[in-house]
Amino acid sequence: MKANTTVTSRSDITPFALGSEFLRAQDYYNMFSRFLREGDREFWTSVLAPQSVEGIHLRSGPGCNCASCKVRIRREAWINERTVPAERHDQVVTLAGQLGDEFATRAAEHDCDNTFASENLARLKETGYSALVLPERFGGLGGNLETLVRAQERLAQGCAATAIAINMHLFTLGSMYECANHSAIEAAFFSAIGHGRQIIAGAQTEPGGSGGWKERYETEIEKVGDRCVLLRGLKRFTSMAEHADVFLIVATLVDKSPLTNAVAVVPRRMPGLRVIKDSWDSLGMRAAGNCDLQFDAVVLPAKAIIDPREAGVIDSMAISSYAWFDLSIAAVYTGVAIAARDWAKAFARNHRTSGAARSIAYLPGSQFAFAEAEALIAQSRALYLGVAADYVRDRDSFQGESGWARIAMTKYVATNNAIRVVDLLLEVVGSEAMLRKNPMQRYFRDVRAGLNHTISNARARELIGKAALGISVHELPRW
Ligand SMILES: Cc1cc2nc3c(=O)[nH]c(=O)nc-3n(C[C@H](O)[C@H](O)[C@H](O)COP(=O)(O)OP(=O)(O)OC[C@H]3O[C@@H](n4cnc5c(N)ncnc54)[C@H](O)[C@@H]3O)c2cc1C
Repeated sequence: MKANTTVTSRSDITPFALGSEFLRAQDYYNMFSRFLREGDREFWTSVLAPQSVEGIHLRSGPGCNCASCKVRIRREAWINERTVPAERHDQVVTLAGQLGDEFATRAAEHDCDNTFASENLARLKETGYSALVLPERFGGLGGNLETLVRAQERLAQGCAATAIAINMHLFTLGSMYECANHSAIEAAFFSAIGHGRQIIAGAQTEPGGSGGWKERYETEIEKVGDRCVLLRGLKRFTSMAEHADVFLIVATLVDKSPLTNAVAVVPRRMPGLRVIKDSWDSLGMRAAGNCDLQFDAVVLPAKAIIDPREAGVIDSMAISSYAWFDLSIAAVYTGVAIAARDWAKAFARNHRTSGAARSIAYLPGSQFAFAEAEALIAQSRALYLGVAADYVRDRDSFQGESGWARIAMTKYVATNNAIRVVDLLLEVVGSEAMLRKNPMQRYFRDVRAGLNHTISNARARELIGKAALGISVHELPRW
């Protein structure tokens, strides 16, 4: 237990004043009503951040006249939306390019100052990029996993830290939409996130890392009576935490056997939630806005705890989450490698060492390094774009640990290749690469973060190797 505050019944919950804009809280109540009882309405309306959300509906069904409810939601319609025409990918990638080029002008400053680029986030919201994985009727750009991967690869070429930060929101949203039950309540949720340009932050990592196969989190959800739970713990490295509207916190259910984890849905202003700023002064990806989160006995309605599942089970929802995460991570770090390649290429064509007749592009060492870099980038792209296309076309072919291994391989190959590319080109550029005024040193630092995202190299090798040999990762003894 991380805190000794005790809440024993609903009467212990402090009554908070109603926010001035009841609408949003009402909408949240609607969104979460599948998890809530009528009596919880007061609680939720009292604690949620008052922000207006345009375009959101209050009721679902024929009685509601809002834009999203005019569209009748049918399962077939949701599925059809996942087929994205090629020109849609291209439009979103073009937008990613424009935003990336704009963000590149601020990247060095935010990296140097260790500040989150909130103006970049504002642009991502304004242009709809923050909802790119949602259909247009929910305020999105109508992209799917392939669109996300292509767009993130391009955005990261401008500002990798912004790309990795928004990636944490986008992969979660994309997977949630993919796994949705196609209900009106979920439509309200996606409408609020899409039209309302709200940001989701996901927190899994803890001081003890995130490395186990059957994760047992120190952050715990404890049942208190029939209607409430307590959330206690400390999460680390949560991207964009200061700017998030909703936190999705992965935690372990107390006294549940077999070991079970779930996701706690925690709105930003929930009492007991503390965003610890300045906890991310890092080597790379400095402008990602990562913060630690402290939960001091946060009280939640029991039904705000969603997706309870036995730890270590690889079902279709787990596969979906891995697919959206690993493939987009692969793309972001390859984007850094591409940016480094392009900068080094321009440099090599122009730079002449004293006494040489031609630029360093004519040195065999440079040419061999570029050959290797090009091959590594091409290998990564072929792998993750191919797997993304396979996944979109036939998601059911990704099953269990072998399906997971196929997905994890993209992240493993791409993040390691990206590091190798930047290292090779750093050597080609020479000492100019060390200067702060040039971006090579930032690429060198940013690209290293790729290995930190779960799953690490060690676990990827174990998963992929065991899957190849037909051995489960859960087999004991492990080695
Ligand atoms: C830019 C950036 C943004 C991030 N954003 C978020 C975010 O939004 N939300 C979030 O929750 N996290 C986030 N993270 C955290 C990140 O995804 C990792 O989970 C975190 O860094 C912990 O990884 P780790 O490998 O260091 O941890 P650990 O699990 O402590 O691993 C430490 C070492 O032990 C090894 N190891 C661990 N377990 C095993 C095992 N079972 N077998 C063999 N070796 C093992 C690992 O390979 C590693 O070398 C972010 C990180 C970065 C860099």
